[in-house]
Amino acid sequence: MGLNIEKIRADFPILDRKVNGQQLAYFDNAATSQTPRQVINSIVKYYETINANIHRGVHTLSQEATDAYEAGREKVRKHFNVQHSHEIIFTSGTTHSINLVASGFGSLLQKGDEIIVSALEHHSNIVPWQMMCEKTGVVLKVIPMTLSGELDMEKYTQLLSAKTKLVFVNHVSNALGTINPIEKIISQAHEIGAAVLIDGAQAAPHIKADLQELDVDFYTVSAHKICGPTGVGILYGKEEWLRKLPPYQGGGEMIAEVTFEETTYADLPHKFEAGTPNICGGIAFGAALDYMNQIGFDKVASYEHELLTYATEKLLEIDGLKIYGESLQKTAVISFNVGNIHPYDIGTLLDKMGIAVRTGHHCAQPIMDYFQIPGTIRASFSFYNTFEEIDRLVGGVKKSVMMLS
Ligand SMILES: *Cc1c(COP(=O)(O)O)cnc(C)c1O
Repeated sequence: MGLNIEKIRADFPILDRKVNGQQLAYFDNAATSQTPRQVINSIVKYYETINANIHRGVHTLSQEATDAYEAGREKVRKHFNVQHSHEIIFTSGTTHSINLVASGFGSLLQKGDEIIVSALEHHSNIVPWQMMCEKTGVVLKVIPMTLSGELDMEKYTQLLSAKTKLVFVNHVSNALGTINPIEKIISQAHEIGAAVLIDGAQAAPHIKADLQELDVDFYTVSAHKICGPTGVGILYGKEEWLRKLPPYQGGGEMIAEVTFEETTYADLPHKFEAGTPNICGGIAFGAALDYMNQIGFDKVASYEHELLTYATEKLLEIDGLKIYGESLQKTAVISFNVGNIHPYDIGTLLDKMGIAVRTGHHCAQPIMDYFQIPGTIRASFSFYNTFEEIDRLVGGVKKSVMMLS
């Protein structure tokens, strides 16, 4: 049995709206996904019935809010097959999660140590590490990419050495959709004793990662890319690493005891959760995972692959259209340009037709530099998109090209 797309679409109120007088066709899912009624309802229910601050309260609402928030954490733990719920740190999203690790990891390293990034990264998995290197004298090495938009794994093997302490790459590239061979990346890094952080922001909506099986040291997710709300996400860390890392922010909730002479820190996960968290967000993240699991990741992946194959075929029929990122292992993302037309111009015309795509460097400027282009048009598909919508996209691109050339 495939997916019942009509029934699924009915869960997403926003898909009914019109944009510039046209029915919305939303193809910017790699930037943020849309939110089903089930998740919206969990947010409404929270504010209508249990809104209270958590963990310290003696009163009923506070206890109910604490239970609901911790139940959200438990859903995340289960979904990613994590051993302990205290290995799940709630953050505001992947950017926060990576900064948390990058800011603390420097204290475990010495000048001259090496860390390895890939050429396929989102800026949020580049800049925090550059900031760390500047402070510590740690050296940043880069796994290069190939013309098909894949990592050069031979070069990766050559970069690994006794000096390597940490490798951090994304599971899926947001700009090109490439699914990186993270199993191999992790096992090779572990062989030489380096830790691995995987940025799972772009993978989470399409691939259900088993973090124990992957044996990864850190993994990051943003809820808003997987049908949840913005402003919440997680950092998974193996307990031994989370114990070694110093706290990221100081404040309430993260302490055991505070005096002006000395402060001791709370146990995991609270050591990294200073201040009042996004309580409602943690609950809604859990609701989003429930929703996705009810649909089923296998079904989502195979339907999205059909959409990808169909759209790739149809788009390539357009004269002068070039697709960037041709890995056989990719999620439903198509990054493309047509001739010398600026991506922004096509994106603007598509918007007039109610079609939402993203244009630009997609927070991955090094990839655009590699291809020597200012940016691409990126259409990224979700399980609620349809073949008819793709026909509209293809027709819209054709029309735009005619108008612009
Ligand atoms: C979206 C994304 C990020 C950044 O996530 P935020 O939710 O903006 O913090 C990082 N890496 C990848 C691969 C992404 O797709």
